[in-house]
Amino acid sequence: MLFGRKDRNPIRIADKQVKEWKYTTCGYCSTGCSINVGLDEDGNAVATQGVADADVNRGKLCIKGIFEHELFKAAGRGDNPLIRSKPYEEDFKETDWDSALDHMGAEIQRIQQEHGKDSFAIISTGQLLTEEFYTLGKLARGCIGSNNYDGNTTLCMASAVSGYKRSFGSDGPPGCYDDFEHTECLIAWGSNLPEQHPIIYWRLKEALEKRKFPLIVVDPRVTMLAQFADMHLPITPGTDLVLMNSLMHVILAEGLEDREYINAHTKGIEEVEACVKDYDPITASKICGIDEDTIRNVARLYAKAGAAMSIWTMGINQSTHGSDGVVGINSLNLITGNIGKPGGTSLSITGQCNAMGTREWSSCSGLPGYRALEKPEHRKEIAEFWGIDEEFFPKKRGLTETDIFPAIETGQIKGLWLVATNPMTSMPNTARIRKTLEKLDFLVIQDAYADVETTQYAHMFLPAAVWAEKEGCFTNTERRVNIVRQVVKPKGNTKPDFWIFKELAKRFPNGQKIHFPETPEGAFEEMKQLSKGDKRTLDISGMTHDLIEKSRGIQWPYREDDHQDDAVAKGNPRLYSDGVFQTPDGKANLIPLPFINNNEVPDDDYPFWMNSGRVVEHFHTRTRTGKLGNLNKFSPTPYMEMNPDAARELGVAHQSYVRLVSRRGDAVVMVQLTQRVPRNMVFIPFHFHDCVNRVSLGLLDPHSRQPAFKQCAVRIEKVDQQLAGELNAERRTY
Ligand code: SF4
Repeated sequence: MLFGRKDRNPIRIADKQVKEWKYTTCGYCSTGCSINVGLDEDGNAVATQGVADADVNRGKLCIKGIFEHELFKAAGRGDNPLIRSKPYEEDFKETDWDSALDHMGAEIQRIQQEHGKDSFAIISTGQLLTEEFYTLGKLARGCIGSNNYDGNTTLCMASAVSGYKRSFGSDGPPGCYDDFEHTECLIAWGSNLPEQHPIIYWRLKEALEKRKFPLIVVDPRVTMLAQFADMHLPITPGTDLVLMNSLMHVILAEGLEDREYINAHTKGIEEVEACVKDYDPITASKICGIDEDTIRNVARLYAKAGAAMSIWTMGINQSTHGSDGVVGINSLNLITGNIGKPGGTSLSITGQCNAMGTREWSSCSGLPGYRALEKPEHRKEIAEFWGIDEEFFPKKRGLTETDIFPAIETGQIKGLWLVATNPMTSMPNTARIRKTLEKLDFLVIQDAYADVETTQYAHMFLPAAVWAEKEGCFTNTERRVNIVRQVVKPKGNTKPDFWIFKELAKRFPNGQKIHFPETPEGAFEEMKQLSKGDKRTLDISGMTHDLIEKSRGIQWPYREDDHQDDAVAKGNPRLYSDGVFQTPDGKANLIPLPFINNNEVPDDDYPFWMNSGRVVEHFHTRTRTGKLGNLNKFSPTPYMEMNPDAARELGVAHQSYVRLVSRRGDAVVMVQLTQRVPRNMVFIPFHFHDCVNRVSLGLLDPHSRQPAFKQCAVRIEKVDQQLAGELNAERRTY
């Protein structure tokens, strides 16, 4: 559902009240749409509209963007800091900010003195502004000093990061939306753009309407994108790697590869050739469920296209071999010479609005600006820049989010700070997460909303300002840095996350030595300094906040020398156009990827695959969208897609309730009969609390530590309908 200038919606009645429009950037998904928020004469946000001259969305918004102004006054916002010593036994008491931050600083240092520096863990998000990520990284790495610091992007983009690093030597999506205008063949791997990223889908559709090219969708479910595709490949869950290897087998066996590009810009082709020999289409079809002729046709289409591109989202990333899947897509593009040229790329479609910002600047997996803790020269450079002893930094990365929770179980971690993330709904195996959180000596939740499910386990709650109550940048899927302007003041006594981080830093010995800029623009200046360098792709040194707004976003790299006075800046749409990668010898890595099937698969006791994903109206754990009537009314309750033939066999009726059971737990859910899912599969939106993640397994990818949310085995049982209906009604009231 898209709303543009011609597609007027009832909310437009509010135009009459608008006295001023303020520019900002959408705070939901990573598409990065430019938004004008309309303010009435009292400064209240009363409307939103897409920005017509913004290259990303060209005046369009999806349903979440069009109602985004409503979230400032949504229910459940925090107001004052809250504190208590015993969750479950005591109610929270309000306190002032100084007392809250004094207490938090003292508790972190007490835990670290008693149990070691790494016994206090921090998990952040992909929702903060980039300057906030940079400041949190400075606090976490430079002042608190725990190595157990990660972001919830481990649940969504870690496999893409890992795969890009393994193939190209660095993170950073090499392509852009403009590639749709140039490609001659597109494969979408586990990516359902119309529901996940509606405006990127609109860009793709516009390109397809101007110039026809084959759209191939690989997905076990007949998604909306699959319905628009020229070819839908309904793959067996978790077997993408087999299909990729088989496509490469055909391309290499038939001599369709770009040997000149391979020789000039890659290494490892011999190992890949040896590996993919085992994946002839006949063998592969028996594992991945795609017939041999289709495999051959797709391989030929892709290799013979003048420019071919692959996009992917969670269908690849959230898998036990997510990182390998990304490397496989990169290799497919490398052997066909499809990296860094218009229409030829491997483009991960990112999830959260600023998942890219955290990857670039938060220091979660290393140090700012894609620097690595493992490299002594990087530790030295940042220690000198921040003015601290380089020995303060760990020499390798610590635990990821998915390994931090098990470390709480074993008593290795005693304290946890969660920033804008809600593991009670987002992590696999809810029952295990609940028990884990109960073990903590000290849990701090920092969030715009006090009623996130995880708060019930907390000792402290810090109320943060939300989205355009703050100022700073987001980076979108195509490396475009755009600006979020402060549109309204922070609600009540809430504070921007930026302020919370810099004020907390003062409670630590290093925080009194290190300079923390007073404004997000000051932090941006530091980031610019750190981004400079001959070989750096992540160079933002030519950008300023004002230039970013004027240009409606700028794609990095954008160097000081790139800037012309008074010009609107475009930035660089593609990486690696010169065939030089961020590896020591400048060549991309081709890596052999043998398939190991370690998934939980359906059997006699649990005969259905369970798959999960998004609906267009909701974002993540519904912290925001679940409270906006104009969104929630379209999808108020959890449901499960089930094939009518399977339902008939079990005697399950449309819109009846069933109990879904896995080896981890159970969930009661309403059935929606549809042929979008095959007979042996069910699909559930992941947004709802006490639903899909009560059942999910979430085995971890060995490289990225990202969970395989989308693949586990379940059975379906009938339940008392009245009881289930009452339970569901309770669950959907926020
Ligand atoms: Fe916001 Fe994403 Fe919708 Fe654009 S597509 S309006 S960025 S939620």
